Amino acid sequence: MKKVTLLIPVYNEEASLPALYKRLTELMDRNARYEWELLFINDGSSDGTLNEIRQLRGNDKRVNYVNLSRNFGKETAMLAGFDYTTGDCCVVMDADLQDPPELVDQMLHYWEEGYDDIYAQRRNRGEESWLRRKLSLSFYKLLQRMSRIDILPNVGDFRLLDRRCVLTLRRLREHERYTKGLFCWIGYRKKGIVFDRGNRVAGHSSWNFLKLLNLAIEGITSSSTAPLRIATVCGLVCAVSSFIYAIYFLVKTLLYGDQAAGFPTLIIVILFLGGLQLFSLGIIGEYVGRIFLETKRRPVYIASEYNETKLGYEE
Ligand code: UDP
Ligand code: MG
Repeated sequence: MKKVTLLIPVYNEEASLPALYKRLTELMDRNARYEWELLFINDGSSDGTLNEIRQLRGNDKRVNYVNLSRNFGKETAMLAGFDYTTGDCCVVMDADLQDPPELVDQMLHYWEEGYDDIYAQRRNRGEESWLRRKLSLSFYKLLQRMSRIDILPNVGDFRLLDRRCVLTLRRLREHERYTKGLFCWIGYRKKGIVFDRGNRVAGHSSWNFLKLLNLAIEGITSSSTAPLRIATVCGLVCAVSSFIYAIYFLVKTLLYGDQAAGFPTLIIVILFLGGLQLFSLGIIGEYVGRIFLETKRRPVYIASEYNETKLGYEE
């Protein structure tokens, strides 16, 4: 019997878990031809999420869980999930039921047809502000232009991955993770299904504008070095135009003599160049920071518990 793992990163989802578990049992009962695993990754929740999961496991041995030692963020929690899944395929989904479990039936169908990565593409984006939607769409456009791999817009982490995708993703152990880019990077046979994304059943989204901005920078700098080239091009354009301006100025001074005018121009040029330099330094800094983090060779996350076993005593 083939085994399907449902991988669910959870962070303060105490309120969503009962409803989620109910919907998932319906899904598992409908597809009794598979063996099922519910793998919860508790990402350092500060509410009663862990107890809730332990209770679920008490009643249902299909539930497994990994407890991380603190909050590492969803991207990292997913890697922990890939490390601990035991299924022949693995479905990544959110705990807040924004990803309808009913879609998994379709995903399984395509998996049986031989697809490796069946991703869900949102038709709408649920309850979101106009600004957030616009920003996120223009971000995808920018990303698409900058990186050589296609990163699909309106595709989240909700997808079914064949075991070989999971094994490949396990090998990508970078710290600053942008999993959406990684899914595209690994390739394999992909298939999209369109769905309508609902709203949260309970609790509220833990993403705020700053976190999203960080994720966007993450997305660009982890899948492309184009910004470095942009800095180079800007520098080049500035150098060439200032050279032309210098010649113009030289000729003008020779012909008409030196008037001590042009103070505003001077200030503008200084400010413009200063800004450009700082901006370019910032871009370089992004990449240097990334190198710094990776050279420390720390584990990407610390798991403190797998089911009833306490982890961290291994030497
Ligand atoms: N999540 C997590 N760690 C975090 C933040 C979120 O594991 O630091 C989980 C969260 O419990 C949920 C999923 O990631 O299952 C998506 O989070 P959320 O619903 O807040 O994001 P959104 O749906 O707004 O993109
Ligand atoms: Mg959500």
